[in-house]
Amino acid sequence: MQDPVEEIKSRLDIVDVISDYIDLRQAGENFKAICPFHEEKTPSFFVSPSKQIWHCFGCGKGSDIFGFVQEIEGIDFPEALRILAKRAGVKVNYNDKEFKSQKTALYNISNLATKFYHKILLDSKGAKKARDYLKNRGLNEKIISQFKLGYVPDKWDTILNFLKNKNYKIENIEKTGLIVKRKDKNGYYDRFRNRIMFPIFDLYGQSVGFTGRIMPDQESKKIPKYINTPETDIYNKSKVLFGLDKAKTAIKKKDKVILVEGNMDVLTAHQAGTKNTICTSGTALTKKQINIIKRFTENVDLAFDLDTAGQAATKRSIDLLLKESMNVSVLKLKHGKDPADMINKNIKDWEKATKNPLPIMEYYFNLAFKNRDLSSTEDKKKATKVFLPEIAKLGDPVEKGLWIKKLSDKLDLSEVYLRDALQSQKTTPRKVRPKSQDNIQRTSPEKIAENFLGLLLLYPQEGKAYLEKTILEMFLEDRVRQVIKILKNKFLKKDKQITLNSLKKSINDKKLEKYIDGISFLGEKEFAEFDKERANKEFQQLYSCLKRKYLKNKMQELVQKLKQAEEQDNKEKINKLLEQINRLFKQSNN
Ligand SMILES: [Zn+2]
Repeated sequence: MQDPVEEIKSRLDIVDVISDYIDLRQAGENFKAICPFHEEKTPSFFVSPSKQIWHCFGCGKGSDIFGFVQEIEGIDFPEALRILAKRAGVKVNYNDKEFKSQKTALYNISNLATKFYHKILLDSKGAKKARDYLKNRGLNEKIISQFKLGYVPDKWDTILNFLKNKNYKIENIEKTGLIVKRKDKNGYYDRFRNRIMFPIFDLYGQSVGFTGRIMPDQESKKIPKYINTPETDIYNKSKVLFGLDKAKTAIKKKDKVILVEGNMDVLTAHQAGTKNTICTSGTALTKKQINIIKRFTENVDLAFDLDTAGQAATKRSIDLLLKESMNVSVLKLKHGKDPADMINKNIKDWEKATKNPLPIMEYYFNLAFKNRDLSSTEDKKKATKVFLPEIAKLGDPVEKGLWIKKLSDKLDLSEVYLRDALQSQKTTPRKVRPKSQDNIQRTSPEKIAENFLGLLLLYPQEGKAYLEKTILEMFLEDRVRQVIKILKNKFLKKDKQITLNSLKKSINDKKLEKYIDGISFLGEKEFAEFDKERANKEFQQLYSCLKRKYLKNKMQELVQKLKQAEEQDNKEKINKLLEQINRLFKQSNN
């Protein structure tokens, strides 16, 4: 069998893989983007399709597709391998030691449990109630099998026995949250019993946890309607979004996501063809989830339940989304209490709502006047009290003015009073999040040295003379010195042509090779449109810069030594140092 890592690399294109996470723009032969790993304003993140590598000149990170997925997902190599193998359609033996992650067993258990619960729902006689319930909620077989819904019977050891018979270690089964240790520490029991099971998948379609809903005939009992898998090594509820694995393509295509409150809303919306719908599971919207959504779109439509809790969740989500610089609108729901109800009652109304999302201020305006009697002074006051703080949050004075006007019209009250009232609001207007300054120091000695090398790889003929003039001490970084040394010994002395490949071949150090890839990248980025003449000038500048900095450092060193010698009153040393300083001084004026 071929090495699966190489096989995956040959099948996947780095530009495709990285585009799934960030916005890449073509820049000559390469692609560039704002780096996802450090804060910056101008793009210094580069991807080379020909080399199949990426490199950031801001933070210095760089590697191949595996390294990228590891870095951006915050996962280890075996997990990145799993994701990319699936994408490339390459079979990997995960029992191989080097591909085995701590989490492999947990994923396997969770995926197997998903299949098991699903089969029970479809085939078991005892699952008829569950099948009927889902049918009553308007779900068809296709969507049930697409989302792999399941059922677990009313027993204490369904999954426990099934997995034990498959020879999974009890500690690993416990780690998936599917079973719970008995209070007396004597054995385990199933966490989920007599419930409809909604498996939760990660972005790549791997089952990581479950939401279990009680059967409708149990609803009056004092047991929780929904229970979720607790946090485990593979299930982090503040990061997972229910339905995203199936919605991500549609979200990208429509450049918009619809965020709903419940699993049932997601399923019903997908069945109705609104495939860009997702929800959080077992948590309010988090910053981490927003960051994941950002990979696919910056536009969010909220469609939460119409009850008070839903309204509070909407408000909270709007604030958080705006803070993260997302564009937010709200879908106008009617019929019943949530999107699933609305879709089941009248799909046309749902479609209309998704086509005409309300801007948030309009949503707040409608909400403020909902069920209010405009002839009642009390009601007018209440509406104003709700809406005014939202106006106060606006950063744009024109928008502020427009909403004051609209409110004054609605209330039939002079704007003057409203402006007065607005003055007394304590809210500070929303600000666009200030991004931290790009902290690349373009003139740092390291940067100059790297530019020198990058230019040299691009224009070796023009750079040779300058390379000859340099001395190793001009370069502060060890890895740069190593490269310069190789160039001097293996190329200059033997008068050989310098090329990227021949240089890499002269090195027996993977890390250094990667670094050189990055450097050659830098050269292409900085100097691609140079001609020979400009390259020459740039060499001259870079070289004199390197020399100046070197001499300055050297001078400081000597002056320091001179001070010491003077303190010791060592005449001989003083004279020697003065001589050196003089020589150096002459050099720097050359
Ligand atoms: Zn970076």
